[in-house]
Amino acid sequence: MNKDEIIALDSEYIAHTYGRLNLVPEKGKGSTLFDKDGKKYIDFTSGIGVNSLGIAPQSWITAVTEQLSKIQHISNYYYSEPTAKLAKTLVTESGMKYAIFQNCGAEANEAAIKVARKYSFDKYGEGRHTIITLVNSFHGRTITTLAATGQDVFHNYFFPFTEGFKYVSANDIDALKSALDGSVCAVMCEAVQGEGGVNILDSEYVSALAKICGEKDILLIFDEVQTGIGRTGKLFAHTHFDCKPDIVTLAKGLGAGLPIGCCLIGEKCADVLHPGDHGTTFGGNPAVCAGANVVLDTVLSDGFLDSVNEKGEYIKSKVLSFGLDCVKEVRGKGLMIGIQVTVSHKETVKKALEKGLMLLTAGKDVIRMLPPLNISYGEIDEGLEILRAVLSTAE
Ligand SMILES: *Cc1c(COP(=O)(O)O)cnc(C)c1O
Repeated sequence: MNKDEIIALDSEYIAHTYGRLNLVPEKGKGSTLFDKDGKKYIDFTSGIGVNSLGIAPQSWITAVTEQLSKIQHISNYYYSEPTAKLAKTLVTESGMKYAIFQNCGAEANEAAIKVARKYSFDKYGEGRHTIITLVNSFHGRTITTLAATGQDVFHNYFFPFTEGFKYVSANDIDALKSALDGSVCAVMCEAVQGEGGVNILDSEYVSALAKICGEKDILLIFDEVQTGIGRTGKLFAHTHFDCKPDIVTLAKGLGAGLPIGCCLIGEKCADVLHPGDHGTTFGGNPAVCAGANVVLDTVLSDGFLDSVNEKGEYIKSKVLSFGLDCVKEVRGKGLMIGIQVTVSHKETVKKALEKGLMLLTAGKDVIRMLPPLNISYGEIDEGLEILRAVLSTAE
């Protein structure tokens, strides 16, 4: 099929729930991909932070296909070696107690919310169920995780939403304190808000938040669905701060392109869920976990996270060196970078795509970059040259 035929087929048969951009990717390698017509694109998106090792990484393909040829799925009634190994690495590296596997970020957050509420129910009884989240957060698309998301635009149409969420402005410790009534069981936040605009939490805020949560036995949940697994230059983004979360959720980059979610639970809530309290058919799939083991081996290998930080700093300073008037701020950690612009972020993304660069937006006015963690400097330079050309002609 040619490009137009694929687009026509898609439009006829797939519900129109996305504003798709004009690209039909066919194949690729690393951070470079090609469309149906052989046109080349540099990928600064990783499929929204998912393809952490780029397109078609060989070691990951080998691990996944070897597992597929042995056994592709077993139910959670049985044991699985790659799944147990993955849990060991995640638990050891995070200092948490157990892993709960899911299929995506929203599900990982659902598990976190269930654990937090049951922890409080078991210990304090009914009524202590409120979860505080931050304004401009994003936690997923299920009814409950939409309710958890601190953006009014997500709270339409689908009423009734799950009760028991309250939103406070990020980096405002007084606002948090006044929201902490006796009904609160947990606070959930992103170390760096992804969808909300690449907004980094203040260190003092996180320290104060962690301290208050500890004192009041309120669980601290970090949604690391986007920031986790090396994206910000550390394996877990909360380790940029002085805090010890009780629950950490993961998804996007963990599977390198296959669907996986994970809710890591700490000592405090280790014994909250018992057989029958929670479950999933697909979560912890052995082939997906075999691939995720390769992701962790790679990200934890010598010098890998240093290179993520170096590339991130290189990108930020290079964008600043363009000296463009339309660039208001360049911020981020590791390879999670936002460029706040005074021109239309959506138009910039469209124009860059025409010229062969894939970018994301975030918030109202931010161009977001989440390139594969192993992107080469050559690919970075090629992509940034396109970005410079597009931004210098933007108005
Ligand atoms: C993407 C994202 C989610 C939702 O993940 P899905 O896999 O789409 O369900 C939740 N939280 C954060 C921070 C995200 O970036």
